Amino acid sequence: MSWHNTPIALMAKALAAKEVSSTELTKYFLDRIEAEKRFNAYIDVSAHLSLEQASKADALLASGKAGKLTGIPIAHKDVFVTRGWKSTAASKMLEGYLSPFDATVVANLGIPNEDTPNAAGMVCLGKTNMDEFAMGSSNENSAYGPVLNPWNCEYVAGGSSGGSAAAVAAGLAPIATGTDTGGSIRQPAAFCGLTGIKPSYGRVSRYGMIAYASSLDQAGPMGKTAEDCALLLTAMSSHDPRDSTSLADTGEDYSRYLNQEWREGGANSAKPLEGLRVGLPKEFFAEGLASDVAKSVNEASKLLENLGATLVEVSLPKTKLSIPVYYVLAPAEASSNLSRFDGVRYGHRANEYRDLVDMYKKSRTEGFGAEVRRRILIGTYVLSHGYYDAYYLQAQKIRRIIAADFQIAFEKCDVILGPVAPDVAWRLGEKSKDPVQMYLEDIYTLSTNLAGLPAMSVPCGFNANNLPIGMQLIGNYFSEARLLQVAHQYQQASDWHMRIASEVA
Ligand code: GLN
Repeated sequence: MSWHNTPIALMAKALAAKEVSSTELTKYFLDRIEAEKRFNAYIDVSAHLSLEQASKADALLASGKAGKLTGIPIAHKDVFVTRGWKSTAASKMLEGYLSPFDATVVANLGIPNEDTPNAAGMVCLGKTNMDEFAMGSSNENSAYGPVLNPWNCEYVAGGSSGGSAAAVAAGLAPIATGTDTGGSIRQPAAFCGLTGIKPSYGRVSRYGMIAYASSLDQAGPMGKTAEDCALLLTAMSSHDPRDSTSLADTGEDYSRYLNQEWREGGANSAKPLEGLRVGLPKEFFAEGLASDVAKSVNEASKLLENLGATLVEVSLPKTKLSIPVYYVLAPAEASSNLSRFDGVRYGHRANEYRDLVDMYKKSRTEGFGAEVRRRILIGTYVLSHGYYDAYYLQAQKIRRIIAADFQIAFEKCDVILGPVAPDVAWRLGEKSKDPVQMYLEDIYTLSTNLAGLPAMSVPCGFNANNLPIGMQLIGNYFSEARLLQVAHQYQQASDWHMRIASEVA
């Protein structure tokens, strides 16, 4: 039996019906991980730890105490600290680091214990590669080398959650966690043909997530289908007193609308999205968007129209400014968050040094990669006396305007539709020499993080080279269940999300 293209919704049914055990599934994926190392998707795997968890999951399944996801294997982005597996954020700075505790996301999804009696009972397959400290758009900034795209190994997998994306696309995990500070769930999902969702800021606990830019960071699922993402998001989000920005738990079931019609009581099953207003921001379809991406996203909008939705034009006038605003604020927060890695409190310490200052300098220069050092410099600069008002404060003000623009757009529509990225995956090395080129690739994803809004990536086609194209659905605050509903209805009428990556045996 081949399991690697099976959505977790079906895997859960097979486990419940005892057609397969968690141990069998876990072995199946561990074998594939071992055989398919070429994608460089994982940076730490520990088969005996995974199998230990699988046997606990099997015991829960046998005793009738299993939850919906018990026994299903999952891969975690290396930005989440995990007991047992190394937690490094793909940085030399944290080489070999073993955390004494699990991140809340990991605990919520893992095998239940005294502290987490309601945990989902999923089995950790290992830690996935990523851009160092989640800084990047191509997963070429990892201390462990780049991740290769399962649709074509000469292309990037996207970043920063590229390892999670490649793992799911290559059938090395049925689903994975990612984090999104400026697009890092949505863009690699789009580049690898997956479905992913970045929830509203505060939905998912940041406790134990190695911080990049705390006011923007948010974790979410990356999987094959919207249904799978809904199942995982339900299990991973919770109120967490250890994260001061964590929202009160509504115990929300993000799957609840999946199979409903948009309009309550609507009885037109041929047009399940009747009444839905889809906003197309004109700035998202302007200059800079590759024509094949534009074509696929436009076709997707027509399909939504066929399902009953109405298309309306909206405007997000400050879209272009999201790049300078984000690349001031994110490095500013990063420079502060990363100050703890000084070779004393945390992280790598240089072997030889003259005095304390020399030790800090050498440790940080050796431990951090080039892009991380660049961001620390930018961040320190924009926060320094004399420049704070000119850069940091200005960026904060424009951030508020960007958020307000979304509210104006949402008066005219229920969800916003656009591309995830201006282009498909690029060739390895193509943009690594020019950081600004790379930053420009984030134009359509950054503004939702600045505003704190939920947004999804949904496969909607391929270009002439058979590289996946993703569309982005953006919703108002706390509308995750509705976004997932629209994506699910789209996936009932299309099969882009079920295609198998070309490099995968
Ligand atoms: N590409 C963006 C950056 O480099 C976003 C990364 C992310 O979402 N973690 O900062």
